[in-house]
Amino acid sequence: MTLKSTSDKGLQTLSIHAGETPDSASGASAPSLVMSSTFVVDEEVSFSANNLTSDSPFVYTRWDNPTTQQLEQKLAILEQAEACIAFASGMAASAAVLLSHLSQGDHLVISNTNYPGTAEFARDTLTRLGIEVTPVDTSELSNIENAMRDNTRMVWLETPSNPLLRISDIGGAAAIAHAQNALLAVDSTFASPIATRPLALGADLVVHSLTKYIGGHGDAMGGSVCGSQALLGALRGEALVHYGGVISPFNAWLIMRGMATLPLRMRCHQENALALARFLEDHDKVEKVLYPGLESHPQHALARSQMDNFSGMISFRTADPKQLAARMMQQLEVIHYAVSLGHHRSLVYLMQTDDLIDSSYRLEGAELDKYRDAAGVGVFRLSVGLENSEDLITDLGRVLD
Ligand SMILES: *Cc1c(COP(=O)(O)O)cnc(C)c1O
Repeated sequence: MTLKSTSDKGLQTLSIHAGETPDSASGASAPSLVMSSTFVVDEEVSFSANNLTSDSPFVYTRWDNPTTQQLEQKLAILEQAEACIAFASGMAASAAVLLSHLSQGDHLVISNTNYPGTAEFARDTLTRLGIEVTPVDTSELSNIENAMRDNTRMVWLETPSNPLLRISDIGGAAAIAHAQNALLAVDSTFASPIATRPLALGADLVVHSLTKYIGGHGDAMGGSVCGSQALLGALRGEALVHYGGVISPFNAWLIMRGMATLPLRMRCHQENALALARFLEDHDKVEKVLYPGLESHPQHALARSQMDNFSGMISFRTADPKQLAARMMQQLEVIHYAVSLGHHRSLVYLMQTDDLIDSSYRLEGAELDKYRDAAGVGVFRLSVGLENSEDLITDLGRVLD
C-alpha cells in the first residue's frame, strides 16, 4: 500500500500518501513514530558519516530515522526533488546550506531584505569566516547580475520575502547564477510547495522552515533542504551528521501529519488573505497593503507567473503603528499578536523599520530610501489563518477604527 507512481497523482493525494509506508510489523495505516536514538544492527556498520550511503541501514537517529525519512520523502516528492533532508529548524537548514557550500574567499549574493536570522547569519557569521557577502534587492534581476563576481559560489533568494513580500524571478536568477557556475538556493517558506516549485524553475536547492506552512499548526519546529541526490548526499554527511541540527522524530511525525492538509490549507489561506487584503485596501486608516495576489502589488504579474497560490502573508501600513500595535495586544480577540507565520491561527506583528535596518538589514543610501518608502516606520506582518474571514475582518476592523 505504497504509491507505485507519483508523477500521475495530484497534490492532495501526494500530500497525504507520498513517502508514507504502513508499518510492516503491525500494518498500521498511519506512519509509525520511531522514538529511538539507536538501532540494533546485524552486521558491522562504519562509524563514519563519510561512509554513509542511501543504502546504509538505520544506525543512529542523527544520521537517519524511519519516521524522519518518511517526512523527507514526502517533501522531496512535493518539491519535485530527488532528495530531501529534514533539520531541527529552518535556521538549521539555512545554516547547513550556507556553511557547507561556502568557504573562505567565496562570494555570496543574497536578498537584502529577508528573514532576519538569515540576514544576520550572512552578515555576521559568514563574513567572520572570510566569505564575502553582497546583499542586493533580488526582486530586480539586474541587481543580481551586477553583483556577480568570479568567486560567486551561491545566489540566495527569499521569495516572497520577509517582510515586504517582494517577489524574485527564480528562473531568471537561475540563469544568471549558472552562467557563473554558482548555485541558486531559494528560501521558499512563504510560498510553500503548493505555490511554487523552485527546482522546476531552475533552482539547485530549496530551503523551508517547516515550522511555518508545511507543519501548519504552530506546534513543531523543523526545516528542510531539497535538491539533487549529489548535492544532498554531501550535505547529509557534513551538515546533518556533523553540525548536528537533527529534527526530533516526534516533530517530524507532527509535521508529516500537518502536511496531509497542506493543499487544502493553502487554498483557504489564499482565500482568506485576499478577503483581508481587499478589506484593508479599502480601509481609510490603512495607507498601503502589500499582497502578491492584489493587482496593486508591484510584481503581481511575476507572482502570477511563478506562484500557483498567493499564500497567506499580507503586510500593511498605517499611521502611528506603535499605538495600533499596543491596541492590538490589548484588544484583538481572534488574531494573536505574535511572531511566526503559516499557522492555522492568524498572527500579526509590527515589523519596526529601525529595528530591522539596524540589527538585520543594515541598508544604506538608495536601498534604505526604497525600504523606508515602502515600509515607513514599520509594517504589520499579518499571517492570515484559517478562521472565518468575517471574524478576522471584524477583529481587525475593531482595532483599526
Ligand atoms: C521562520 C523562517 C525561517 C527560520 O525558520 P525556523 O524554523 O524559525 O528556524 C527562515 N526563513 C523564513 C522565510 C522564515 O519565515
